[in-house]
Amino acid sequence: MRAGAGTPKQYRTLAGLPVLRRSVSAFATHDAIGQIVVVIHPDDRGLLADALGSLADRVTIVTGGATRAESVRAGLAAVTDTDAVLIHDAARPLVRATLITRVVAALDDSPGAAPAVPVSDALWRGSNGKVSGALPRAGLFRAQTPQGFHLGAIRFAHAGAPEDAADDVEVALAAGLDVAIVEGDEDNMKITGPGDFTRAARLLKDSDMDIRTGNGFDVHRFGPGASVTLCGVTIPHEAGLVGHSDADVGIHALCDAIYGALAMGDIGRHFPPGDPQWKDAASHVFLAHAAGLARASGFNLTHMDVTLICEAPKIGPHAAAMSAELARIAGLSVERVSVKATTSERLGFTGRGEGIAAMATATLVKT
Ligand code: MG
Repeated sequence: MRAGAGTPKQYRTLAGLPVLRRSVSAFATHDAIGQIVVVIHPDDRGLLADALGSLADRVTIVTGGATRAESVRAGLAAVTDTDAVLIHDAARPLVRATLITRVVAALDDSPGAAPAVPVSDALWRGSNGKVSGALPRAGLFRAQTPQGFHLGAIRFAHAGAPEDAADDVEVALAAGLDVAIVEGDEDNMKITGPGDFTRAARLLKDSDMDIRTGNGFDVHRFGPGASVTLCGVTIPHEAGLVGHSDADVGIHALCDAIYGALAMGDIGRHFPPGDPQWKDAASHVFLAHAAGLARASGFNLTHMDVTLICEAPKIGPHAAAMSAELARIAGLSVERVSVKATTSERLGFTGRGEGIAAMATATLVKT
Protein backbone atom coordinates (compact mmCIF):
# COMPACT_ATOMS: atom_id res chain seq x y z
CA MET A 1 0.00 0.00 0.00
CA ARG A 2 1.22 3.49 -0.78
CA ALA A 3 0.09 6.00 1.78
CA GLY A 4 -1.33 9.15 0.24
CA ALA A 5 -3.25 12.25 1.24
CA GLY A 6 -5.27 11.84 4.42
CA THR A 7 -2.71 9.45 5.94
CA PRO A 8 -0.59 10.92 8.77
CA LYS A 9 2.51 12.50 7.24
CA GLN A 10 4.97 10.08 8.89
CA TYR A 11 3.38 7.21 6.95
CA ARG A 12 3.20 8.99 3.63
CA THR A 13 5.66 8.30 0.84
CA LEU A 14 8.50 10.71 0.18
CA ALA A 15 10.46 10.06 -3.02
CA GLY A 16 9.52 6.38 -2.99
CA LEU A 17 9.96 5.61 0.71
CA PRO A 18 7.71 6.25 3.72
CA VAL A 19 8.78 9.26 5.80
CA LEU A 20 8.99 7.11 8.96
CA ARG A 21 11.28 4.56 7.29
CA ARG A 22 13.62 7.32 6.16
CA SER A 23 13.75 8.74 9.70
CA VAL A 24 14.31 5.34 11.35
CA SER A 25 16.89 4.39 8.73
CA ALA A 26 18.99 7.49 9.49
CA PHE A 27 19.41 6.23 13.06
CA ALA A 28 19.51 2.48 12.31
CA THR A 29 22.54 3.00 10.06
CA HIS A 30 24.43 5.18 12.58
CA ASP A 31 27.21 3.52 14.61
CA ALA A 32 26.38 5.39 17.82
CA ILE A 33 22.77 4.19 17.92
CA GLY A 34 21.68 1.00 19.69
CA GLN A 35 18.00 0.60 20.45
CA ILE A 36 15.36 2.49 18.44
CA VAL A 37 11.94 3.12 19.98
CA VAL A 38 9.10 4.31 17.75
CA VAL A 39 6.16 5.88 19.56
CA ILE A 40 2.94 5.64 17.57
CA HIS A 41 -0.68 6.64 17.82
CA PRO A 42 -2.77 3.52 18.63
CA ASP A 43 -4.84 4.01 15.45
CA ASP A 44 -1.73 3.84 13.26
CA ARG A 45 -0.64 0.30 14.13
CA GLY A 46 -1.97 -1.01 10.82
CA LEU A 47 0.24 1.42 8.88
CA LEU A 48 3.45 0.34 10.59
CA ALA A 49 4.41 -2.78 8.62
CA ASP A 50 4.50 -0.89 5.33
CA ALA A 51 6.07 2.19 6.88
CA LEU A 52 8.98 0.30 8.42
CA GLY A 53 9.56 -2.47 5.88
CA SER A 54 12.68 -4.47 6.69
CA LEU A 55 13.49 -2.07 9.56
CA ALA A 56 10.54 -3.48 11.57
CA ASP A 57 12.87 -5.94 13.33
CA ARG A 58 15.12 -3.08 14.37
CA VAL A 59 12.61 -1.08 16.41
CA THR A 60 10.64 -1.30 19.63
CA ILE A 61 7.06 -0.10 19.10
CA VAL A 62 5.38 1.84 21.89
CA THR A 63 1.88 3.29 21.93
CA GLY A 64 1.85 6.98 22.80
CA GLY A 65 -0.45 8.98 25.04
CA ALA A 66 -2.89 11.84 24.71
CA THR A 67 -0.22 14.57 24.83
CA ARG A 68 3.23 14.95 23.37
CA ALA A 69 4.79 14.75 26.83
CA GLU A 70 2.88 11.55 27.65
CA SER A 71 4.09 9.96 24.40
CA VAL A 72 7.72 10.88 25.10
CA ARG A 73 7.43 9.46 28.63
CA ALA A 74 6.11 6.20 27.17
CA GLY A 75 9.05 6.08 24.79
CA LEU A 76 11.58 6.83 27.52
CA ALA A 77 10.11 4.04 29.67
CA ALA A 78 10.88 1.54 26.88
CA VAL A 79 14.54 2.54 26.59
CA THR A 80 17.02 0.09 28.12
CA ASP A 81 20.78 -0.38 28.39
CA THR A 82 21.94 3.13 27.59
CA ASP A 83 23.21 6.28 29.29
CA ALA A 84 21.92 8.67 26.68
CA VAL A 85 18.89 9.01 24.44
CA LEU A 86 18.11 11.05 21.33
CA ILE A 87 14.52 12.17 20.87
CA HIS A 88 13.65 12.79 17.22
CA ASP A 89 10.61 13.99 15.34
CA ALA A 90 9.71 11.33 12.74
CA ALA A 91 8.61 14.17 10.45
CA ARG A 92 12.29 15.14 9.96
CA PRO A 93 13.32 12.33 7.58
CA LEU A 94 16.29 14.19 6.07
CA VAL A 95 18.39 14.12 9.25
CA ARG A 96 22.03 13.45 8.34
CA ALA A 97 24.48 11.12 10.10
CA THR A 98 26.83 14.06 10.70
CA LEU A 99 24.12 15.91 12.64
CA ILE A 100 23.40 12.83 14.79
CA THR A 101 27.15 12.56 15.46
CA ARG A 102 27.34 16.22 16.58
CA VAL A 103 24.48 15.78 19.07
CA VAL A 104 25.93 12.54 20.48
CA ALA A 105 29.39 14.11 20.83
CA ALA A 106 28.02 17.15 22.69
CA LEU A 107 26.49 14.83 25.31
CA ASP A 108 30.04 14.08 26.55
CA ASP A 109 30.13 17.55 28.08
CA SER A 110 26.49 18.39 28.68
CA PRO A 111 23.40 16.59 30.06
CA GLY A 112 21.46 17.88 27.06
CA ALA A 113 22.34 18.88 23.48
CA ALA A 114 20.18 19.85 20.54
CA PRO A 115 20.69 21.16 17.00
CA ALA A 116 19.50 24.61 16.03
CA VAL A 117 19.89 27.11 13.23
CA PRO A 118 20.41 30.81 14.02
CA VAL A 119 17.54 33.00 12.84
CA SER A 120 18.82 35.04 9.90
CA ASP A 121 15.57 36.57 8.61
CA ALA A 122 14.20 39.73 10.17
CA LEU A 123 11.41 38.99 12.64
CA TRP A 124 8.12 40.86 12.67
CA ARG A 125 5.02 40.83 14.68
CA GLY A 126 1.90 41.14 12.54
CA SER A 127 -1.83 41.35 12.82
CA ASN A 128 -4.66 41.80 10.32
CA GLY A 129 -2.24 41.47 7.42
CA LYS A 130 -0.05 44.32 8.61
CA VAL A 131 3.32 44.49 10.27
CA SER A 132 2.77 45.82 13.77
CA GLY A 133 6.34 45.69 15.00
CA ALA A 134 9.85 44.32 14.57
CA LEU A 135 11.66 41.98 16.95
CA PRO A 136 15.40 41.73 17.55
CA ARG A 137 16.68 38.41 16.17
CA ALA A 138 20.03 38.44 17.98
CA GLY A 139 20.45 35.26 20.02
CA LEU A 140 17.39 33.55 18.50
CA PHE A 141 17.51 30.02 17.09
CA ARG A 142 15.16 27.69 15.26
CA ALA A 143 15.11 24.40 17.16
CA GLN A 144 15.55 21.03 15.43
CA THR A 145 15.74 17.39 16.47
CA PRO A 146 17.23 14.95 17.44
CA GLN A 147 17.47 16.41 20.92
CA GLY A 148 19.87 14.41 23.06
CA PHE A 149 19.93 13.89 26.81
CA HIS A 150 21.47 11.79 29.53
CA LEU A 151 18.73 9.21 30.09
CA GLY A 152 18.36 9.64 33.86
CA ALA A 153 18.26 13.42 33.56
CA ILE A 154 15.53 13.56 30.89
CA ARG A 155 13.43 10.91 32.63
CA PHE A 156 13.61 13.01 35.80
CA ALA A 157 12.76 16.18 33.84
CA HIS A 158 9.77 14.53 32.14
CA ALA A 159 8.40 13.24 35.45
CA GLY A 160 7.64 16.82 36.44
CA ALA A 161 7.23 18.29 32.97
CA PRO A 162 4.67 20.86 31.90
CA GLU A 163 2.21 18.98 29.62
CA ASP A 164 2.27 21.76 27.02
CA ALA A 165 6.03 21.88 26.41
CA ALA A 166 6.79 22.37 22.69
CA ASP A 167 9.81 20.09 22.78
CA ASP A 168 12.11 18.16 25.10
CA VAL A 169 14.59 20.99 25.42
CA GLU A 170 11.81 23.04 27.01
CA VAL A 171 11.15 20.12 29.38
CA ALA A 172 14.85 19.91 30.22
CA LEU A 173 15.12 23.65 30.87
CA ALA A 174 12.11 23.55 33.17
CA ALA A 175 14.02 20.96 35.23
CA GLY A 176 17.15 23.13 35.30
CA LEU A 177 19.19 21.01 32.88
CA ASP A 178 21.91 22.57 30.73
CA VAL A 179 21.30 22.09 27.01
CA ALA A 180 24.15 22.73 24.58
CA ILE A 181 23.33 24.12 21.14
CA VAL A 182 24.96 22.17 18.32
CA GLU A 183 25.07 23.30 14.70
CA GLY A 184 21.81 22.41 12.98
CA ASP A 185 21.27 21.64 9.32
CA GLU A 186 19.07 23.75 7.07
CA ASP A 187 18.10 20.58 5.15
CA ASN A 188 16.90 18.83 8.33
CA MET A 189 13.45 20.25 7.67
CA LYS A 190 10.25 19.30 9.39
CA ILE A 191 7.54 18.06 7.07
CA THR A 192 4.27 19.72 7.96
CA GLY A 193 2.36 20.85 4.89
CA PRO A 194 2.07 19.45 1.32
CA GLY A 195 4.66 21.96 0.05
CA ASP A 196 7.20 20.43 2.43
CA PHE A 197 6.92 17.06 0.64
CA THR A 198 7.86 18.79 -2.61
CA ARG A 199 10.80 20.59 -1.02
CA ALA A 200 12.04 17.46 0.79
CA ALA A 201 11.81 15.42 -2.42
CA ARG A 202 13.89 18.07 -4.20
CA LEU A 203 16.54 17.95 -1.45
CA LEU A 204 16.64 14.16 -1.64
CA LYS A 205 17.04 14.29 -5.39
CA ASP A 206 20.07 16.55 -4.99
CA SER A 207 21.72 14.21 -2.50
CA ASP A 208 20.76 11.04 -4.39
CA MET A 209 22.38 12.29 -7.58
CA ASP A 210 23.17 9.33 -9.84
CA ILE A 211 26.35 9.96 -11.85
CA ARG A 212 27.81 7.05 -13.79
CA THR A 213 31.03 6.45 -15.67
CA GLY A 214 31.35 3.62 -18.18
CA ASN A 215 34.38 2.42 -20.06
CA GLY A 216 34.78 0.59 -23.35
CA PHE A 217 37.60 -1.05 -25.28
CA ASP A 218 37.73 -2.40 -28.83
CA VAL A 219 40.23 -3.66 -31.41
CA HIS A 220 39.98 -4.20 -35.15
CA ARG A 221 42.71 -5.64 -37.37
CA PHE A 222 43.96 -4.11 -40.60
CA GLY A 223 43.06 -5.82 -43.88
CA PRO A 224 42.58 -4.96 -47.52
CA GLY A 225 41.28 -1.47 -48.25
CA ALA A 226 42.19 2.14 -48.90
CA SER A 227 40.56 3.92 -45.97
CA VAL A 228 39.53 3.52 -42.33
CA THR A 229 36.47 4.97 -40.58
CA LEU A 230 37.27 6.20 -37.08
CA CYS A 231 34.78 8.04 -34.86
CA GLY A 232 32.54 8.50 -37.89
CA VAL A 233 35.23 10.10 -40.09
CA THR A 234 36.68 8.27 -43.09
CA ILE A 235 40.43 8.75 -43.56
CA PRO A 236 42.44 7.54 -46.56
CA HIS A 237 44.95 4.88 -45.51
CA GLU A 238 47.05 2.14 -47.07
CA ALA A 239 44.80 -0.50 -45.43
CA GLY A 240 41.25 -0.88 -44.21
CA LEU A 241 39.91 -2.27 -40.94
CA VAL A 242 38.27 -5.70 -40.91
CA GLY A 243 34.95 -6.18 -39.18
CA HIS A 244 31.35 -7.25 -39.53
CA SER A 245 30.22 -3.62 -39.64
CA ASP A 246 32.32 -0.67 -40.83
CA ALA A 247 34.84 -1.59 -38.08
CA ASP A 248 34.76 1.88 -36.50
CA VAL A 249 36.75 0.89 -33.46
CA GLY A 250 36.33 4.32 -31.80
CA ILE A 251 32.54 4.28 -31.96
CA HIS A 252 32.41 0.66 -30.85
CA ALA A 253 34.47 1.41 -27.73
CA LEU A 254 32.29 4.45 -27.07
CA CYS A 255 29.06 2.46 -27.38
CA ASP A 256 30.41 -0.07 -24.88
CA ALA A 257 31.22 2.80 -22.49
CA ILE A 258 27.62 4.05 -22.68
CA TYR A 259 26.12 0.56 -22.35
CA GLY A 260 28.53 -0.03 -19.48
CA ALA A 261 27.42 3.09 -17.62
CA LEU A 262 23.83 1.91 -18.03
CA ALA A 263 24.87 -1.60 -16.91
CA MET A 264 23.10 -2.85 -20.05
CA GLY A 265 25.66 -5.17 -21.58
CA ASP A 266 27.72 -4.30 -24.63
CA ILE A 267 27.41 -3.58 -28.33
CA GLY A 268 27.36 -7.31 -29.17
CA ARG A 269 24.22 -7.75 -27.07
CA HIS A 270 22.34 -4.95 -28.82
CA PHE A 271 23.75 -5.63 -32.32
CA PRO A 272 24.69 -9.33 -32.53
CA PRO A 273 27.63 -9.77 -34.97
CA GLY A 274 25.93 -12.87 -36.45
CA ASP A 275 22.90 -10.80 -37.50
CA PRO A 276 23.17 -10.08 -41.27
CA GLN A 277 21.32 -6.76 -40.98
CA TRP A 278 24.42 -5.22 -39.32
CA LYS A 279 26.79 -6.47 -42.04
CA ASP A 280 28.82 -3.44 -43.22
CA ALA A 281 26.54 -1.21 -41.12
CA ALA A 282 27.69 2.35 -40.51
CA SER A 283 28.51 2.55 -36.83
CA HIS A 284 26.65 5.81 -36.27
CA VAL A 285 23.56 3.58 -36.00
CA PHE A 286 25.09 1.93 -32.92
CA LEU A 287 26.08 5.21 -31.25
CA ALA A 288 22.67 6.76 -31.92
CA HIS A 289 21.11 3.68 -30.31
CA ALA A 290 23.35 3.81 -27.24
CA ALA A 291 22.74 7.54 -26.73
CA GLY A 292 19.00 7.05 -27.23
CA LEU A 293 18.94 4.18 -24.74
CA ALA A 294 20.68 6.42 -22.18
CA ARG A 295 18.01 9.10 -22.64
CA ALA A 296 15.20 6.56 -22.54
CA SER A 297 16.65 5.24 -19.27
CA GLY A 298 16.47 8.71 -17.72
CA PHE A 299 20.10 9.75 -18.14
CA ASN A 300 21.82 12.73 -19.70
CA LEU A 301 24.93 11.75 -21.61
CA THR A 302 27.18 14.57 -20.45
CA HIS A 303 30.66 13.65 -21.68
CA MET A 304 32.45 11.24 -24.02
CA ASP A 305 36.18 10.68 -24.32
CA VAL A 306 37.82 8.40 -26.89
CA THR A 307 41.50 7.44 -27.16
CA LEU A 308 42.60 5.80 -30.41
CA ILE A 309 45.77 3.70 -30.20
CA CYS A 310 47.71 3.26 -33.45
CA GLU A 311 50.95 4.17 -35.23
CA ALA A 312 49.08 5.20 -38.39
CA PRO A 313 47.09 6.87 -39.74
CA LYS A 314 47.83 10.15 -37.95
CA ILE A 315 44.73 11.06 -35.94
CA GLY A 316 45.64 14.60 -34.84
CA PRO A 317 44.57 16.36 -38.05
CA HIS A 318 41.15 14.64 -37.90
CA ALA A 319 40.46 14.78 -34.15
CA ALA A 320 38.30 17.92 -34.29
CA ALA A 321 36.18 16.51 -37.12
CA MET A 322 35.78 13.24 -35.18
CA SER A 323 34.65 15.07 -32.02
CA ALA A 324 32.14 17.05 -34.07
CA GLU A 325 30.78 13.90 -35.72
CA LEU A 326 30.44 12.00 -32.42
CA ALA A 327 28.72 15.03 -30.88
CA ARG A 328 26.30 15.23 -33.81
CA ILE A 329 25.42 11.53 -33.70
CA ALA A 330 24.99 11.34 -29.92
CA GLY A 331 23.26 14.71 -29.59
CA LEU A 332 25.83 16.44 -27.35
CA SER A 333 27.47 19.80 -27.66
CA VAL A 334 30.94 19.42 -29.13
CA GLU A 335 32.78 20.81 -26.08
CA ARG A 336 31.60 17.69 -24.22
CA VAL A 337 33.28 15.31 -26.65
CA SER A 338 36.99 14.47 -26.72
CA VAL A 339 38.92 12.45 -29.29
CA LYS A 340 42.64 11.96 -28.82
CA ALA A 341 45.24 9.44 -29.93
CA THR A 342 48.43 7.81 -28.86
CA THR A 343 50.90 5.39 -30.38
CA SER A 344 52.10 2.40 -28.39
CA GLU A 345 55.79 3.22 -29.03
CA ARG A 346 55.90 0.56 -31.80
CA LEU A 347 55.19 -2.10 -29.13
CA GLY A 348 52.55 -4.78 -29.38
CA PHE A 349 50.03 -5.35 -32.15
CA THR A 350 49.23 -1.67 -32.56
CA GLY A 351 52.95 -0.90 -32.61
CA ARG A 352 53.52 -3.45 -35.36
CA GLY A 353 50.70 -1.88 -37.37
CA GLU A 354 48.47 -4.95 -37.22
CA GLY A 355 45.38 -3.07 -36.15
CA ILE A 356 43.87 -0.18 -34.20
CA ALA A 357 42.69 -0.24 -30.58
CA ALA A 358 40.36 2.25 -28.90
CA MET A 359 39.42 3.06 -25.32
CA ALA A 360 36.46 5.21 -24.36
CA THR A 361 34.78 6.70 -21.32
CA ALA A 362 31.23 8.01 -21.11
CA THR A 363 29.60 9.93 -18.25
CA LEU A 364 25.86 9.75 -17.59
CA VAL A 365 23.88 11.83 -15.12
CA LYS A 366 20.40 10.79 -13.99
CA THR A 367 17.86 13.47 -14.83
MG1 MG B 1 34.20 -3.62 -32.77
